[in-house]
Amino acid sequence: MNISESYIQEIVEKVVKGVKTENAIVNGRQLKGVFPTMGEALVAVDKAYKEFKAYSVAQREKMISKIREYTLAEAENMAVLGVKETKMGRVSDKIIKHQLVANKTPGTEDLKPSVMTGDDGMTLVEMAPYGVIGSITPSTNPSETVICNAMGMIAGGNAVVFNPHPNACDTANYAVDLVNRAVLEAGGPENLVVSVVKPTRESSNEMMASPIVRMLVATGGPGVVKALLSSGKKAIGAGAGNPPVIVDDTADVKKAGADIVKGASFDNNLPCIAEKECFVFNNVADKLIASMLENGAYLVKGADIDKIVKVALIEKDGKYSINKDFVGRDASKFLKEIGIDADPRLIICETDFNHPFVQEELMMPILPIVRVNNIDEAIDLAVKAEHGNRHTAHIHSKNIDHLTRFARAVETTIFVKNAPSYAGIGAGGEGYTTFTIAGPTGEGLTAAHSFTRSRRCVMVDGLHIV
Ligand code: NAD
Repeated sequence: MNISESYIQEIVEKVVKGVKTENAIVNGRQLKGVFPTMGEALVAVDKAYKEFKAYSVAQREKMISKIREYTLAEAENMAVLGVKETKMGRVSDKIIKHQLVANKTPGTEDLKPSVMTGDDGMTLVEMAPYGVIGSITPSTNPSETVICNAMGMIAGGNAVVFNPHPNACDTANYAVDLVNRAVLEAGGPENLVVSVVKPTRESSNEMMASPIVRMLVATGGPGVVKALLSSGKKAIGAGAGNPPVIVDDTADVKKAGADIVKGASFDNNLPCIAEKECFVFNNVADKLIASMLENGAYLVKGADIDKIVKVALIEKDGKYSINKDFVGRDASKFLKEIGIDADPRLIICETDFNHPFVQEELMMPILPIVRVNNIDEAIDLAVKAEHGNRHTAHIHSKNIDHLTRFARAVETTIFVKNAPSYAGIGAGGEGYTTFTIAGPTGEGLTAAHSFTRSRRCVMVDGLHIV
């Protein structure tokens, strides 16, 4: 039988369209930029980037403004979708996270050219796009990371292909669609950010290996950062943390208790920056715990702690790993499992340093509290509990030596003094926000400048005016 090329093409198009229509619909919306295969996504984003190169910085900024506007308008939709899909976190807190992304992610103003002039003329250094960036995003902040990355990467003049976490892909892809709708309304090209309907390890590998992708960014645990750094491409890795918080006896202990509950319970402790274990001076420990209880915490003791361990962690051969079914769940769910009917923001318990609640990055609204005798012991244990991630650490103290000594010893990317953890990403603290904190590769709090290449242009004997 003779079948013409055009007929085959027509059938392929119909099938592809059918698959797309069937799968890339979230909340009743056909998602723009979300493709059935990574191959198609890559072809589309490559085309978009070639068109995007002709756009001015002012046009980029117009697109960023629209993304801000759409994100604010849809913050609640995305928060609800995220909790529904992942079963993790709190809707009210996820709304705040989207508002933070919309309001405090830098745009093109973050790109700062520099110039050197002198007897030999003028040299200009500008921040140029990489091209198409491949980004891998986590389940803990699915839409927030997509939007935050997209804003910074587009501000830097790039296009983006996402391979979102498979357990959060509807939410992440909803954000991909939002970015595309905003870009199109601002007069930008189609498919400036793309993704796949069902991301897998294979689609991730295809993305990493594609010659279309010039730079890689991963936000997630140690596995993905390692995979990325073995890719042979320029890579930004934003990895795991296990942030300790120290409270000494010079602190405003009442405020410290309130701040720690706010930070550690925010979005059920999903943020990588959230307080995950507390080291408190013995002489103020009771006061701190009392303040935490006044501010929405629930104290569990003795055998109840062991029961919660069995809910939150899986033990095998003396080693613990987190029970993924309980990551980011409400505190009431843990308490219900052990027969307690209460709905606090945070569960607190006193443990020793070696307890798995201190050692594991739980990402659950459970905060272990370890009593210490002095600052030497506090710093020593806090640095050990951070496991060398050099991610984030916190302290409540008015003693300048304590503040300085801990910061120097722990060497984290973010160090917050006398505030809830989220002040470190610009919520109630100075500075811009990001949802990709690159400790392992050193970019720190990523923004548009992190997604650019520095290029130098030299003019000899001219253009300088002095
Ligand atoms: P995760 O590591 O399970 O997944 C992150 C992403 O990486 C997902 O898209 C996943 O599919 C992919 N992935 C995982 N292993 C991979 C591999 N070997 N090769 C390729 N892709 C791989 O993380 P999660 O549970 O979604 O998020 C929680 C973790 O991420 C925590 O450890 C948290 O501290 C960290 N995190 C860090 C930051 C940061 O800015 N540093 C931000 C958010 C979350």
